[in-house]
Amino acid sequence: MSKNTTKAVFWITLYIVLSCAPLGFMLVGERPMGREFVRELSVALGFVGIAMTTLQFVLTARIAAVKAPFGSDVVYYFHHRISLVTFGLWLAHPIILFIKFPWARDLLNLITAPWRARAGVTSVIAMIILIVISVWRKRFKFEYVKWRVWHGILATLALALVMIHAYMVGKYIGTPFKQALWLGYGAACVLIVAYVRVVKPWVIARHPYQVVQVDPQPGNVWALALEPVGHAGMRFQPGQFAWLTAWHSPFTDTEHPFSFSSSAEQPERLEFGIKELGDFTATIKDMQPGQRVYLDGPFGAFSVDRRPDAEAYAFIVGGIGISPVMSILRTLADRGDQRPLFLFYGNLDWESIAFRDELEALCQRLNLKIIYVLERPPEGWEGEVGFVTAQVLERHLPADKLQEVECFVCGPPPMMDAVESALLSLDVPLQNIHAERFDLA
Ligand SMILES: Cc1cc2nc3c(=O)[nH]c(=O)nc-3n(C[C@H](O)[C@H](O)[C@H](O)COP(=O)(O)OP(=O)(O)OC[C@H]3O[C@@H](n4cnc5c(N)ncnc54)[C@H](O)[C@@H]3O)c2cc1C
Repeated sequence: MSKNTTKAVFWITLYIVLSCAPLGFMLVGERPMGREFVRELSVALGFVGIAMTTLQFVLTARIAAVKAPFGSDVVYYFHHRISLVTFGLWLAHPIILFIKFPWARDLLNLITAPWRARAGVTSVIAMIILIVISVWRKRFKFEYVKWRVWHGILATLALALVMIHAYMVGKYIGTPFKQALWLGYGAACVLIVAYVRVVKPWVIARHPYQVVQVDPQPGNVWALALEPVGHAGMRFQPGQFAWLTAWHSPFTDTEHPFSFSSSAEQPERLEFGIKELGDFTATIKDMQPGQRVYLDGPFGAFSVDRRPDAEAYAFIVGGIGISPVMSILRTLADRGDQRPLFLFYGNLDWESIAFRDELEALCQRLNLKIIYVLERPPEGWEGEVGFVTAQVLERHLPADKLQEVECFVCGPPPMMDAVESALLSLDVPLQNIHAERFDLA
């Protein structure tokens, strides 16, 4: 078993144990006797829901050790999906009670209900708002940075209120031992919030970077170069990313994730390829040499360094998905790596190919074959046209290497879905397909 697999098994086991631990708490020590099974079931589901909610804080706290074995995108994907299960558990608790005990529906009246019910009902309302603004954020055109602030406020409020509800009801947490255990879950959340909001920004603020260059690239991309100020900088694996804060202090929660595009062998100068897509990315071109910015990282599992023994690598990218692959190619060139490399690079047209000149130069230093795939090719174009399909991949990848080649996919979501299916249809093993999705939210 590889080191990463062992770590992943450890974290998954811990997750399951901590999620189910409340059921164990219920069974030990003093218990309310003679209550109906459905009532106990609803309480059990509620407790597991609370425990899983506290773990949601851990999942999004950007703790590198937790994310390392899986990759950030997988952890965020899990966070999104499991939040719906958690929400289901939160709802199951009152719904079961309301169905089985119609009198309990009176507790929904916030004016007449006792405080323990008010806390419980308000926590569920906060949770519903949280889920609605998260699932339909893009439809509501809710700006990402503002949404994140509200997401944090509502999650903290919901959890605090539901804990108060559980304490005031008092069943199963009557003994000091059980109260201490629940306090442990609550305290873990408070500590994580303090770490994320205070300790981490403070550390980041003490390790600033300065802008040294902002260069235009084709395709509305800006190559941003940074140098550490007064510290050694950041070591990363090629293909990883960092969260960038510019124009604000690290305490403001306005950072954005970007993949390193520079060589991991030259950590004294960090570069990013940033495509102008929205409010923040439109400000990159206005950055001035000497301007202070901040980085939190490195994160991510999209790296050849996690598959160092591969016989060959294939990179299948679209548009700005080239950014992490530039880092990988630059790093492999600096290391003098001569293994076969295949770069399938999808773009709208010839003019929008970012880093084109440097890619051609890298071909001199690496055993690299570049296959440009253009949606709107220029006249006389003899290369690939349209999208990266199974046929395109099959034409250029050596048939006898398809089982060994490690494939790295990064680009717009529809392209990534299509490429992943194409690779599987060519019998590329699933464990050899690595993806970086630029949309965590
Ligand atoms: C792991 C990862 C690596 C990335 N690497 C690159 C890269 O190398 N080059 C590049 O150009 N882009 C990269 N991106 C995408 C980049 O983070 C977004 O394009 C950028 O944050 C958009 O911000 P905006 O304000 O300009 O656009 P907006 O119009 O505000 O946002 C456009 C979309 O980008 C996403 N987004 C916005 N802000 C954030 C945020 N703070 N965190 C996460 N997602 C956000 C949201 O889905 C949003 O709907 C990466 C994203 C991820 C998750």
